[in-house]
Amino acid sequence: MHSQEIPQVDFLLIGGGLASATAAGTLRAAGAEGSIAILSAETTLPYHRPPLSKCFLVKGPDKTNILIHDEAFYRDRDIDIHLGARVCWVDVGSRTIETDAGAHFSFGKLLIATGAGVNRLSAPGADLSGVHYLHTVNDALSLYRGIERVQRAVVVGASFIAMELAAALATRGIATTLMAKGHLLYAKLRSPEVSEFFAKYYRGRDIELIFGEGVKEFSGTTRVEAVVTSSGEIVPCDIVAVGIGVHPEIGFLRNSGIDVDGGILVNQYLETNRPGIYAAGDVANFYDPISRTRSRVEHWDNAIKQGRIAAWNMLGERQSWRTVSYFFSDVFDLTFNVVGATEKAGEHIIRGSVEDRSFSVLYLGNNRLRGAFLLEQSFVEGKAAGALIANRSDLTATKAKLPDGRFPLNQAAVQTVLILQGGGALGGFECGVVKALEERSIYPDLVAGVSIGAFNAAIIAANPHNATAALEAFWREVSLDTPNVPYEGLQRALSSLQSLVFGVPHFFRPRWFEPVLTPAQLPTNWTNFYDPSPVKATLGKYVAFDKLRDSPVRLVLTAVDVETGQLVIFDSYVDEITPEHILASGSLPPGFPRTTVDGKH
Ligand SMILES: Cc1cc2nc3c(=O)[nH]c(=O)nc-3n(C[C@H](O)[C@H](O)[C@H](O)COP(=O)(O)OP(=O)(O)OC[C@H]3O[C@@H](n4cnc5c(N)ncnc54)[C@H](O)[C@@H]3O)c2cc1C
Repeated sequence: MHSQEIPQVDFLLIGGGLASATAAGTLRAAGAEGSIAILSAETTLPYHRPPLSKCFLVKGPDKTNILIHDEAFYRDRDIDIHLGARVCWVDVGSRTIETDAGAHFSFGKLLIATGAGVNRLSAPGADLSGVHYLHTVNDALSLYRGIERVQRAVVVGASFIAMELAAALATRGIATTLMAKGHLLYAKLRSPEVSEFFAKYYRGRDIELIFGEGVKEFSGTTRVEAVVTSSGEIVPCDIVAVGIGVHPEIGFLRNSGIDVDGGILVNQYLETNRPGIYAAGDVANFYDPISRTRSRVEHWDNAIKQGRIAAWNMLGERQSWRTVSYFFSDVFDLTFNVVGATEKAGEHIIRGSVEDRSFSVLYLGNNRLRGAFLLEQSFVEGKAAGALIANRSDLTATKAKLPDGRFPLNQAAVQTVLILQGGGALGGFECGVVKALEERSIYPDLVAGVSIGAFNAAIIAANPHNATAALEAFWREVSLDTPNVPYEGLQRALSSLQSLVFGVPHFFRPRWFEPVLTPAQLPTNWTNFYDPSPVKATLGKYVAFDKLRDSPVRLVLTAVDVETGQLVIFDSYVDEITPEHILASGSLPPGFPRTTVDGKH
């Protein structure tokens, strides 16, 4: 094909699921002016999957509206959707993609949101009619029609999908057996208490549970008639639904030059190793600054939030992932949530009452909450759990109270927070405050600063237990020696004049003492009078910027985006703080250059 014939799309989105649909809508809402196109392997407009394993199977397709947006939404926003277009190749060099049908598109920015595909069993008889998997709306339709005429079902797996499937089938009055290879339900939660709770609950609703058994074969002539377990037990059935997990859809990226490893590898801005190519949703293996590990999350909420962030970043922003993952589900009349990463904790605490069907499991590592399972808990409890995880709050002081469900989780964090304001002389006052606190062995867990307070805050965060000495040394280094004169007013006027004309050593220097080596350095080309680079070097002596992320003191800085007037927050837990961030917060007076962070001034 001749290159001129290849349609050029400014924002090309591969995958027709929740992450893509959200990204497309966000792009337009955020003012994207170029062309936007979604390429989807499916033949249906993007839809929500969670209802498929719940009300869709119980109430039926007619009573379940699953579409994320109707056709008019995409038309009105000039978003092209190509259905039945499976991408088989991405050429990062020429920035083009190819579909199975041989169509080509070239792109400016690319989002890959191809989600996950179901894991399939390869046991003999796996191809028999009546053996179902559930991922797409077509799968759900086929299963819904299949269960209309059956009496006995076997559900294979202990994942949340398997649990939801068993609940839906039992609700439809089908005699259901759930067989799990391991010995726990919701195995990912690794909680015997949660497993036992659900086992009792499911048995109470006439679901038979078989643990420790895999599938040896499916028996039947044309339709499945029984499942033979690994130990040889025969479980008769008319239908089987398998829910044994998913894998990221990345096969088409083999040899493309886009790094993959258990998902598409992206940084905290959801960008791949190839500039301008992003990934979001189930397929993205992203760096999570909160847990400081890589994660791939297969949740509805994650797909929406990542779709948004990817869209903003495709438009030139630099928004970091800074969210705790959130999962919801309901089975029978129970609702539950999982927040954070339950698999990364070493210890767990049961909170509340399992007998009363109102409890949580708190997953802790180093006395900090990493994740939580919440059954029938209030919104406030879920929010509090998310905040404790996001803030990495030290729970040592309140840990003993956590099992008591009456002790509010939002009171579990005991933190010392120091908030430092700006304004010249306040800087010195703040040093005195820090000294007084240190003398009483009071150290902040979080220090927030703006303007001069930002300088102090960074020095405190970088020197957790000897902030006073570091602050005093820093301010001594940037202080100005002025000639002694008898009148204070005159002294002040002289020192102002001295700093205006000669600058302040180790802080800023005037342009007029710089040699003019290039035409750009001629005074007629100046856009400012002072160069603040000395203070960046001085700050570097007191703040090891590359280690701020690991400091026990979290640093939060605020600044104002002068182009939009919006408040911007920098957080050492999430952002790579540099001297520029301090200067951006420092609101240097007129005459100084503007500070640019991540392309924003
Ligand atoms: C049955 C079911 C129930 C669920 N219930 C819950 C729940 O209760 N709570 C919860 O939090 N989460 C739930 N989830 C998970 C949630 O739905 C997913 O996390 C979410 O849909 C992920 O969105 P996505 O856009 O990343 O991927 P998907 O929604 O999977 O969309 C990916 C799209 O990309 C397409 N695609 C794949 N490869 C290509 C290609 N090469 N070219 C073009 N298109 C391609 C796919 O066909 C698909 O349309 C459930 C999922 C399922 C399947």
